[in-house]
Amino acid sequence: MTKYIFVIGGVMSGIGKGITTASIGRILLDKGFNATAVKIDPYINIDAGTMNPVEHGEVFVTEDGDETDQDIGNYERFLDKNILSENYMTTGRVYQAVINKERNLEYGGRCVEVVPDIPNEVIRRIYKVVRDSRADFVLVEIGGTAGEYQNLLFLEAARIMKLRHPKDVLFVLVSYLPVPRLLGEMKTKPTQYAVRTLNSAGIQPDIIIARSESPIDEPRKRKIGLFCNVVKEDIISAPDVESIYEVPLNFEKENLSRRILSKFNLRTRKKDSRKWNDLARKIKNLKKSVKIGIVGKYFKIGKFTLMDSYISIIEAIKHAAYFCNAKPEIVWLDAEDYEKGENKLKELKSYDGIIVPGGFGGRGSEGKIKAIGYCRRNKIPFLGLCYGMQLAAIEFARNVSGLKKAHTTEVDKNTPHPVIDLMLEQKKNLAGNKYGGTMRLGAYKCALKPGAISHKAYGEKEISERHRHRYELNNKYREVLEKKGLVVAGVNPERDLVEIIELPVKKHPFFVGVQFHPEFKSKPLRPHPLFREFIKASIKTNNRHTMSVLIP
Ligand code: GLN
Repeated sequence: MTKYIFVIGGVMSGIGKGITTASIGRILLDKGFNATAVKIDPYINIDAGTMNPVEHGEVFVTEDGDETDQDIGNYERFLDKNILSENYMTTGRVYQAVINKERNLEYGGRCVEVVPDIPNEVIRRIYKVVRDSRADFVLVEIGGTAGEYQNLLFLEAARIMKLRHPKDVLFVLVSYLPVPRLLGEMKTKPTQYAVRTLNSAGIQPDIIIARSESPIDEPRKRKIGLFCNVVKEDIISAPDVESIYEVPLNFEKENLSRRILSKFNLRTRKKDSRKWNDLARKIKNLKKSVKIGIVGKYFKIGKFTLMDSYISIIEAIKHAAYFCNAKPEIVWLDAEDYEKGENKLKELKSYDGIIVPGGFGGRGSEGKIKAIGYCRRNKIPFLGLCYGMQLAAIEFARNVSGLKKAHTTEVDKNTPHPVIDLMLEQKKNLAGNKYGGTMRLGAYKCALKPGAISHKAYGEKEISERHRHRYELNNKYREVLEKKGLVVAGVNPERDLVEIIELPVKKHPFFVGVQFHPEFKSKPLRPHPLFREFIKASIKTNNRHTMSVLIP
């Protein structure tokens, strides 16, 4: 019998519901159970592909080409497996499916209503995941917080599930306990209100995850327990941590998996948390560091800097750095700053490695090109991801192959040298305003050039990586680029598309650009080969800096 755990937020958003869900999955996995996770996004959007990353965070691309919420990435990293499109739903998707069925007369002519037809469609989708994944546990994270009008129908679906499977459904509330500076005391009232709001939706939480700056103490556990109808042992202390990979360990210190299993009358099948725990401990004791700059533009919002737009890249850097026993120091570099002059560029010298991530449009693109050129000339390890690879090709075309006006038609439609350009089917998509879900998405094969950096990194002849882009390196320019020393190190065998460009190691310690997004496949216990080699090269550079200081 499949067990369902609904994870619901209270008090406020952004307190780590995704990490909580992923961590619960991890501790169950480490007790010998097969777990998967579903994310419900209460937006009308059909997918995350059409949302601004500054507002919604990263668009995480699945193996089967869906543009999903960044939490799917958290699930993949913590559960160490692929999560597919069917594990992601939005309000838009659910309504669209119901309306399509209605048009196909699948409701047999009866009146189709918001309740129960919308919750029923949600439940149908959850059952589908159960059938396909055959998981022992299906975790369902409901986006937003209790009390929002937007997720009411999803709570309704959860309530109905409990009614149908009273012994197989558990509700977890992830709440926040503020410690106002003026009071210096942890306050429980917002959590009490959140539980009351959930109660009015017919849901009683079984477990409360008490997120806060610091651990929750006994008196407050007792208080929440009494007012929220939850035994003290089911209030799990979840203080802020330095590394998200510590969260499963902290949950286990509070006996969370034991509490969950006993509620379902289950027993631990095997214990296997050693690797994960070793990693979490290793992270705390790193002695050396590696400083990586990310030249991007989707991280400033008012006075705040958000990391969510590049979350998989950050995690991939961390995985690789941990593998190399180094603490990553990640710095945000605003691409537009490099458009202002040479002086700013010189600051790049103080980084051990530079990443230019994916992106869209003209703003900041010249700055990124300048930064890439600086890395190329000054032998600073460079990894270009998607747009970062495209701009590296443009930089090389302009400054090495002498095509001064080379560009991508994404930014300059009339460039005389469209080194990066649209393929025919993408031209049709754009002409018809077909933006949603029409990029080159999901996993594609790539054949690697023997002896190239990437070939050595992967240790395989053919690989598969996830994509999300419209534009491609224009094959008409391959020759002029290769003639001047750019290495085409990876090609899609079916359509002969350039997927990887490199500079030879003789010329540069590490200069690699990839059309795909390797960051999506990196796992804490299995760092991605390209990130691993990039970080290795960056650490080497770092050593060289230190050496030159020591030995003048
Ligand atoms: N804007 C580029 C394209 O559409 C790159 C996209 C990306 O970096 N994800 O091809």
